[in-house]
Amino acid sequence: MPEQIWVVGGGLAGTEAAWQIANSGRRVVLYEMRPVRNTPAHTSDLLAELVCSNSLKANYLENASGLLKEEMRRLDSLIIKVADETRVPAGGALAVDRGEFARRITALINNHSQIQVVREEVTSIPLGQPAIIASGPLTSAALSEWLKQLFGEEYFYFYDAVAPIVTGESLDYSKVFLASRYGKGEAEYLNCPLNEMKYHEFWENLVSAETHQSHVGEVEQHFFEGCMPIEVLARRGKDTLRYGPLKPVGLLDPITGKRPYAVIQLRAENKEKTLYNLVGFQTNLRWGEQARVFRQLPGLEAAEFVRYGVMHRNTFINTPQLLLPSLQWKGAENLFFAGQLIGVEGYVESAAAGLVAGKNIVRWKEGKRPLIFPEETAIGALLSHIISAEIRQFQPMNINFGLFPPLKRRNTSKFERNREISARALAIMADFLSNERN
Ligand SMILES: Cc1cc2nc3c(=O)[nH]c(=O)nc-3n(C[C@H](O)[C@H](O)[C@H](O)COP(=O)(O)OP(=O)(O)OC[C@H]3O[C@@H](n4cnc5c(N)ncnc54)[C@H](O)[C@@H]3O)c2cc1C
Repeated sequence: MPEQIWVVGGGLAGTEAAWQIANSGRRVVLYEMRPVRNTPAHTSDLLAELVCSNSLKANYLENASGLLKEEMRRLDSLIIKVADETRVPAGGALAVDRGEFARRITALINNHSQIQVVREEVTSIPLGQPAIIASGPLTSAALSEWLKQLFGEEYFYFYDAVAPIVTGESLDYSKVFLASRYGKGEAEYLNCPLNEMKYHEFWENLVSAETHQSHVGEVEQHFFEGCMPIEVLARRGKDTLRYGPLKPVGLLDPITGKRPYAVIQLRAENKEKTLYNLVGFQTNLRWGEQARVFRQLPGLEAAEFVRYGVMHRNTFINTPQLLLPSLQWKGAENLFFAGQLIGVEGYVESAAAGLVAGKNIVRWKEGKRPLIFPEETAIGALLSHIISAEIRQFQPMNINFGLFPPLKRRNTSKFERNREISARALAIMADFLSNERN
């Protein structure tokens, strides 16, 4: 009997991975613990349940998420195929009838002759068993414990407290300045200076902004002191931020020549310095409120947010430390990982990782070299970012144009530039796939 491949987790990544493996002719056992054991967010026993929004985000090529979908279409993605079939009107976005979407995927997986679905919680993987672990942000406690033992506590996380990330090109460099405190070492941070009036305005806006009601509320109320939401810290007193993350010591505003009243620091998220995070701004504010409040800061008036701040339960591993670009664990070649567990964020990003892990486990079984997508493609840009991110500061990421290598020729309009990046990606993807097939 041919050896079966295990896929753990019947979510966005797991169903996509199982589909890719099964369509290559190999047998798959897909383990899904629901309804035997539930997660705090899922409400049905359907595979590929969308736990929150019914939108898979933009569906046009001038948007990085639209490009990612198009690449996946060209790679016969199950998730995108069914999303296209079950779409509902949503302007430029690909939104779906969530019930129909999950029901159709469940039926396709259940009826596939190469897939056996087992409704059981997996708590460990037997030694040498080829498997893809795609148990998602709400991985069960027992499996989390096993993974923690496997990797060591320091490379396994249960909680995501992320500051918003903005694109470098959307900042106003006549207002923000590059400097490190006391001029020490290489200037690492962009600094956004506030005078007394601006600081008080910002404080008022922050403490009165609307916060997010969590879907998975159990962890949110227990903030670690070192990782407090910025708005909670602000509520402790008018000056708390000025003596905390917004302290201006050692910094001089080059325009006034004086020390600002307070400073917001922005730290580069990637080596190309196309993305910056607002240091210390992990937050529970609603996304619309984050855009409204933070765009009132000098230099951030036109900030483009590629990721909003979040604080929620999120199980993920330190991918740059643990995985190869094939999404294989460095410690045992039979174990692959996919989905939100590897630190991609979003439905489509999770499915894309499932697609790559599914294709690569088959190639590994066949002794072929893995598919490592070029950085100019959306799949390649996303996976190469998480594989090569800074190990000590690893944080989940969703697809955005800031992750792509810049164009050699820079057009004036952002729309044109994005269109060109997408055209380049699809051309390179076509070449890459035809070389791999030959
Ligand atoms: C509350 C919440 C809201 C979110 N909202 C959005 C949103 O609106 N838009 C967006 O793009 N992204 C959202 N995300 C982020 C993320 O994209 C989704 O969670 C996405 O579903 C991740 O795909 P996945 O396949 O990695 O995990 P999932 O889709 O969660 O699939 C993992 C599956 O594994 C199963 N499982 C877990 N442990 C075990 C085990 N030990 N054995 C067997 N099965 C197991 C689970 O039951 C689940 O079905 C949200 C995440 C959360 C937690």
